Amino acid sequence: MKVLVINCGSSSLKYQVLEMETESVLCKGLVERIGIEGSVINHTKAGMDKFVLTVPMKDHKDAIGHVIDALTDKDHGVVSSMDEIGAVGHRVVHGGETYASSVLITDEVMKAINECADLAPLHNPANMLGIRACQELMPKTPMVAVFDTAFHQTMPASAYIYAIPYEYYENYKVRRYGFHGTSHKYVTERAAAMLGKDVKDVNLVTCHLGNGASLAAVKNGACIDTSMGLTPLEGLIMGTRSGILDPAVLVYLANKENLSIDQLNTILNKKSGVQGISGVSSDFRDVEEAANGGNARARLALDAYAERVKFYLGGYLAKLNGCDAIVFTAGLGENSITMRESICKGLESLGIKLDPAKNNVRGKETVISADDSKIKILLIPTNEELMIAKDTAGIVASL
Ligand code: AMP
Repeated sequence: MKVLVINCGSSSLKYQVLEMETESVLCKGLVERIGIEGSVINHTKAGMDKFVLTVPMKDHKDAIGHVIDALTDKDHGVVSSMDEIGAVGHRVVHGGETYASSVLITDEVMKAINECADLAPLHNPANMLGIRACQELMPKTPMVAVFDTAFHQTMPASAYIYAIPYEYYENYKVRRYGFHGTSHKYVTERAAAMLGKDVKDVNLVTCHLGNGASLAAVKNGACIDTSMGLTPLEGLIMGTRSGILDPAVLVYLANKENLSIDQLNTILNKKSGVQGISGVSSDFRDVEEAANGGNARARLALDAYAERVKFYLGGYLAKLNGCDAIVFTAGLGENSITMRESICKGLESLGIKLDPAKNNVRGKETVISADDSKIKILLIPTNEELMIAKDTAGIVASL
């Protein structure tokens, strides 16, 4: 079966077509500036050069129309007609408490995704635009929603409840949800395969360290805690997000600088993190370069980042009471040799020992711990699109 994977943002759209028999990517692409002047589609068929087309796209339906043209193009296409696409898998950010796994999209599911939009106002409406456009242009093709929050729905209430008046949970579902679930699930499955265990028998701490970042504690293959919360702002220090802080900081700063709630929101989401501490950049490559060049604030940002990861890692090891492996994934986790070193340094007494030679690697599925490390350390490049496609193909095959 060929599966089209769609990840739709408010003005951009990423897509891939995968052949599920071989789990190979036939083509991938990115549409940008949807509804804005200068709309452009970048399409790459496996083994061929990128094909770029700048063409007006007034909305998501226009954008999907151009994706379909690219997929069926006689030179750059991968199918002769869209009938060859067996299913479409849509990334949806928030499934609230309704969805603990991926689901075939029906009118009822669309209603539920819409109800969750309150919790993800920037993402769910954009995801729905992508779904509706695909439904209009491919009315006979089954569509599946794959939620970023679903993997974390196994968290016990003791892990997801906030210590605020319970009525806010009852009335507004204010609780911890967690994100990057598709990535945590993918690396959990791969880690089980690498360890030669059934996924139901693996205990892991999975570290998704990208521009956004989260850790998850995975017991018997299921998430028991994760570092992001109601929104992706909680937890680790990120590119531009603060992660955890004393909530009273907001009140204090609002009073000092007469800041509105919107301004505070922007500061915590867009101006904080390693960008905020270093003043250099939100990209770890720039921050690492500045730190190596003697920039003290860049060094401080990286040190604080590694310490925060250790803080969650230690907590999750305590919750797991026995861990097979720690997994590093996503942009920074897969590529930063020095950050992995900083995080693992000093954890030998917990049975975590990195092998410096094995750690000298980027973007490759491999074991990077020393042979005598009690807990293995794994490097696993994430592949959210493949996870979405596998869930989608599984659901559609069982119809
Ligand atoms: P992601 O959100 O998973 O795409 O991760 C993107 C982030 O990974 C970038 O902002 C960089 O900070 C980081 N990254 C990517 N490559 C490297 C690298 N070679 N060294 C350090 N950080 C990297």
